[in-house]
Amino acid sequence: MNMKVNVYHKPIINYYFYNVYLCIINITDNFKRMIKSYNYMSVYDVAILGGGPAGISAGIYAARFKLNTVIISESLGGTVETAHLIENYPGFESISGFELAQKFKGHLENFEVPNIKKNADSVIKEDDTFTVKLKDQDVKAKYILIATGTKRRKLDVQGESELYGKGVSYCVTCDAFFYKDKTVAVIGGSDAANMAAILLSTIAKKVYVIYRKEKLRGELVWIERVIKNPKIEVLYKSAVVEIKGKNFVDGVKLDTGNEISVDGVFVEIGSIPECCFAKDIGVKTDEKGYIQVDQSQKTNIDKVYAAGDVTSGSNGFQQILTAASEGIIAIKSIFDDMEIRR
Ligand SMILES: Cc1cc2nc3c(=O)[nH]c(=O)nc-3n(C[C@H](O)[C@H](O)[C@H](O)COP(=O)(O)OP(=O)(O)OC[C@H]3O[C@@H](n4cnc5c(N)ncnc54)[C@H](O)[C@@H]3O)c2cc1C
Repeated sequence: MNMKVNVYHKPIINYYFYNVYLCIINITDNFKRMIKSYNYMSVYDVAILGGGPAGISAGIYAARFKLNTVIISESLGGTVETAHLIENYPGFESISGFELAQKFKGHLENFEVPNIKKNADSVIKEDDTFTVKLKDQDVKAKYILIATGTKRRKLDVQGESELYGKGVSYCVTCDAFFYKDKTVAVIGGSDAANMAAILLSTIAKKVYVIYRKEKLRGELVWIERVIKNPKIEVLYKSAVVEIKGKNFVDGVKLDTGNEISVDGVFVEIGSIPECCFAKDIGVKTDEKGYIQVDQSQKTNIDKVYAAGDVTSGSNGFQQILTAASEGIIAIKSIFDDMEIRR
């Protein structure tokens, strides 16, 4: 279309564009102000990363200290959920890990601490605040408490990843049920392995515990129960070098040269700290990757604290009680630090 603009129309058009221009500037300014105030409002005092015993206990105390807190964790409950039986938590002579985790969650709910059900991908430090990057969201906080626990260590042998979910498992409480009257192997020799073997012995026909050392380690109560159990056979000084099976596990090959037939393999060889993003902001870890903290649970980075299994604290004793204690010490320290700076 060929539009002819009359010379008399020019001032009207200029005036029109000028008004549109002013309107855009106005909207942009208002928008910027809105974003700024939104950002200001949404800067939490503390972002707790992790929803296990450390994170949940920290959340409860943070609410009682009236700190504006958010818990960022895909799930609440933590590793406790996978423990078959907890018999060392005061107040509960014997309780399943799953049930105890439900009680933790229920207790936290009384305090209405918001929980963003996503895991943190990374943390960025900007001036006085931290930005926690989630999949499709950013969360800002003045203090960070890392309570991300640990993840299961893998055996790293042939067949392990290929047969994962087809007879290879890292969670006895989740999968024991599938092995009624079958033969299974538990790899490992510490508390988690001992407890796994005991649980499996109530379901399976036969349980091998395959351990590379000469003696089982951990709580003597569990060791005694393993040794006295007629369904459990411990193979000492043996390491699995291959998990065998075509579509499903049918055996394991040991470094002794022996092969044993089993229907399932439960890997219980410990855990490694879940704190890769902590290193991005310069948080110091020990040689095994656990976050180093002082007595107040503070890391080497100002306003970054850590608690629970992810730290090298509590003399390396990774338990529900120690994780919870570290969580609440961290919150008290954050509260004190905020008071001093006020
Ligand atoms: C089989 C087994 C049996 C056990 N039995 C006992 C027992 O009888 N008694 C006892 O005291 N202890 C027991 N423990 C140890 C106990 O479970 C742990 O010490 C405790 O759960 C540690 O708590 P935590 O909060 O530090 O970490 P965890 O419980 O591991 O929780 C970590 C949390 O962080 C979240 N998370 C991970 N990555 C991210 C991320 N990137 N962003 C945000 N969140 C993240 C996880 O989803 C989880 O919610 C057992 C452990 C196992 C494996």
